[in-house]
Amino acid sequence: MFTNELLAPIGAFCTLADMSAEPFNTAAVDKAFENRLRPRAFADFPGQDQIKHNLQIYIAAARKRGEPLDHILFSGPPGLGKTTLAGIIACEMGVEMRSTSGPALERPADLAGLLTSMKEGEVLFVDEIHRLPSAVEEYLYSAMEDWAIDVVMESGLYARSIRLTVPRFTLIGATTREGLLTAPFRARFGIVERLDYYPPEALVAILKRSADILRVRLTDDGAGELACRARGTPRIVNRFLARARDVAEVQGNGEITLAVAQECLRMLGVDTRGLTEMDRRLLEVLGQHGGGPVGLKTVAVSVGETEDTLENVYEPYLIREGYLLKTPQGRKLSAKGYEAIGQKPPTQIGSLFANIQ
Ligand code: ADP
Repeated sequence: MFTNELLAPIGAFCTLADMSAEPFNTAAVDKAFENRLRPRAFADFPGQDQIKHNLQIYIAAARKRGEPLDHILFSGPPGLGKTTLAGIIACEMGVEMRSTSGPALERPADLAGLLTSMKEGEVLFVDEIHRLPSAVEEYLYSAMEDWAIDVVMESGLYARSIRLTVPRFTLIGATTREGLLTAPFRARFGIVERLDYYPPEALVAILKRSADILRVRLTDDGAGELACRARGTPRIVNRFLARARDVAEVQGNGEITLAVAQECLRMLGVDTRGLTEMDRRLLEVLGQHGGGPVGLKTVAVSVGETEDTLENVYEPYLIREGYLLKTPQGRKLSAKGYEAIGQKPPTQIGSLFANIQ
């Protein structure tokens, strides 16, 4: 039922850019490991309670009417469960899910081929939907609204357009950058849900479920330690679990205890606040510039990361936790940010002199 039938190559489902763009060496991300831990039902998906509640009502209503579910847009930082929710929705609707990604749909013909091969009611999941080429996006408009696409045959003088009907489907788009979607496109999604970072209790629940699946013993304080430092992100907490299991098996008796969790996080360079080396480098660059404002480009060059990765992956958490401020003039370090890098924020008079110099 929940199949990731990849019409595009598998790399397109989780692009290289995406994979390298996450903390903790996700270039080597193990998709099989992720899929093994991926919940298939709402009951196995801790957290995001309001979103789950809303979706369950929409699904029940669509099923009652015997109609496909309205188009859905999920936004939020990577690893919070957008893909997982899409799969759960397909399962709950009792339909297949086809998966692809924005960059994989290069030409309108790719989309036409995909849509015409779908069956009534199926789910089309498009990851990184903000990266859909604009020509493809415009084709999608009529498919989403009128269940038809106009295909242009021939070219020049002999150009003619043929209207192809497509089965009524549910588009589920996932994006880390909702703001990059055009207004007309966004308006075509009947349901828009924003996923937020998870509280530690929800991450503990995720860890316990994952530990059961992996058959690894995990103490409460071990789980609490991993959960508190996982940036509110299920993907990260599951990765911690995988690495802590290694430590437990090699250095301990196989059980993930508090000491094992702490040793694993030390090895990964995660501090007690849950900040990674890259987070700290980013904050330090701002500190070196008197706390900012510093332009994103300068920060990116200084830390050796792309602007896109900083904006998508690192900044949302740092901003949300109050380490960093995003202003029209550039990024600024907050008092909490100074504290995180072991520095004192400059006094107002001190920074006045710094500005004069
Ligand atoms: P996204 O699409 O937002 O980047 P995914 O849906 O691919 O994130 O989730 C990343 C990993 O985290 C998957 O292995 C998934 O199983 C796990 N995960 C995400 N959210 C949850 C959750 N609420 N409960 C359990 N596991 C989750």
